[in-house]
Amino acid sequence: MNDTGSPGTVTAAGSATPAAGPLRAACELARMTNCGYCWARPQQPCTAGPGGAAGYHLARFARAARRGLITPAGFDAALAAAGDGMYSGAAVVFDVPGARAEDHARGAS
Ligand SMILES: [Zn+2]
Repeated sequence: MNDTGSPGTVTAAGSATPAAGPLRAACELARMTNCGYCWARPQQPCTAGPGGAAGYHLARFARAARRGLITPAGFDAALAAAGDGMYSGAAVVFDVPGARAEDHARGAS
């Protein structure tokens, strides 16, 4: 009954991770660069996705990663969001995890 708990309790303080997760963070960092594929300017998304999602070309994440803006974990999240299959700089990653990139891979005309 004399359970006082451990004296030196280590709590995971300071990890104010947003619920959106690493994908959202990677998208925001990628947005700081211009896109090497479609030349969207900084702060402009490459394309608009379903449900108000913003889409970014994978080339943009690669550029941001080269500049040290995105961590390897963040780039990993972008690759995971791009889905299975072949990647190129033209692959679109949306900042909403549910949005699929395939529908936007090939534009009309
Ligand atoms: Zn782009």
